[in-house]
Amino acid sequence: MVWTPATDHTRGMADTQQTPLIDRHRAVLPSWLALYYADPIELVSAEGRHVTDAEGNTYLDFFAGILTNAIGYDVAEISDAIRRQLDSGVLHTSTLYLIRGQVELAEKIAKLSGIRDAKVFFTNSGTEANETALMLSTQFRRSNQVLALRNSYHGRAFGTVGITGNRGWSASSLSPVKVSYVHGGYRYRSPFGHLSDADYIQACADDLREVLNTTTSGDVACMVAEPIQGVGGFCVPPDGLYKAFKEILDESGILLVSDEVQTGWGRTGEHFWGMDAHGVTPDMMTFAKGLGNGLAIGGLVARPDVMDCLTANSISTFGGNPIATAGANAVLDYILDNDLQANAEKQGIRLSEGLHDLAHRHPVIGDVRGKGLMIGVELVEPGGKDPSPRAALRVLEETKARGLLVGKGGLYNNVIRLAPPMTLTETEVDEALDVLGEAIAVADRAADAVFEQHPGGEG
Ligand code: PMP
Repeated sequence: MVWTPATDHTRGMADTQQTPLIDRHRAVLPSWLALYYADPIELVSAEGRHVTDAEGNTYLDFFAGILTNAIGYDVAEISDAIRRQLDSGVLHTSTLYLIRGQVELAEKIAKLSGIRDAKVFFTNSGTEANETALMLSTQFRRSNQVLALRNSYHGRAFGTVGITGNRGWSASSLSPVKVSYVHGGYRYRSPFGHLSDADYIQACADDLREVLNTTTSGDVACMVAEPIQGVGGFCVPPDGLYKAFKEILDESGILLVSDEVQTGWGRTGEHFWGMDAHGVTPDMMTFAKGLGNGLAIGGLVARPDVMDCLTANSISTFGGNPIATAGANAVLDYILDNDLQANAEKQGIRLSEGLHDLAHRHPVIGDVRGKGLMIGVELVEPGGKDPSPRAALRVLEETKARGLLVGKGGLYNNVIRLAPPMTLTETEVDEALDVLGEAIAVADRAADAVFEQHPGGEG
């Protein structure tokens, strides 16, 4: 047979025009790259807190591209800042040259961090930010031992999968660091969950001491922790847990790294950084998601002695590039100028109160928790605490059918995650609560029916 590349190529193109996007996605993208919904959607336009799919359906967005569209869509101040950079002709220079927007953004973040004389390094993602935090702390401490929390998520690369305490996201046991996992992040199913705040903190602190004494050689590099576990299902430990941890870590110079990828930029309402709720200043914070409002930017802010400890060169070709930093400066200014943190707190309280009302009416809701606009609703089989991933799936479909996009997560995939843009209005909170009320009622009835047939639940 004669090889005719042009013909093959053309025929391939013609075929793909007829093939649904979902089939083309499945053919060329990895099987482990999950899509939401039995009938996945393609979002083609957006404005404010609303997105529209390729079939013309409009949705109120309560997941914001996984907490990334912090401000929402089509915000003039951000689009204009990006456009000005585009118009300059400079999309990229590399960090071999001075980037004014990068320096300005680093100055702002260093000041906001509360870390004395802080320095900032920019990456393209949260994973890269946490990889850098691991590199710095292991070099600084000359130790490959790291503490992480059970039910954590810190990224998808080797080091960050190594400190991810969630089977569903741990594709490999290979790890460049030796990890010990401690209790504390996920209170609802913790063996200490029944205790008061103070006793819970004490039990977790005792556990940390025991883990240090039994599974490490003492000279541990760092503890990496999400102030509120994101992928883990918006799990909120009692305020003060990390203060108790830090006192123990400080006894042997172990660094505290706060992973603020989901909790940063005011999303938790009461504070600008999630770790602020615990009354401690960490040695390092990692960030990403909301800072770019959709642009690829992440990074970390750290004590200067820790940041400067590397003895070899290190570079991120794209990290903190002119486009990303132009946009991120505009995002950060917008968040601060419009006090979106205060709005996150106000709307978060309204949303949370509405959800607690729903919880009283629907036994399928096992727990409502969160801070600001980061609220998790853990779904269970009626009559107990067995996780109900089936109910969560049902709520996802029923909310979509009613024009609301929500997220899902948790160790058992049974937590509905609500994290709308921080520009959310009161009317939109009420609209979402109406839809959630209907969707949860459907899931509740369905769970009841299944429960009667299979009293043990499905695990
Ligand atoms: N840390 C946390 C807490 C996260 O939630 C995520 C992403 N879900 C990451 C790190 C990894 O970020 P990215 O996907 O940008 O690499």
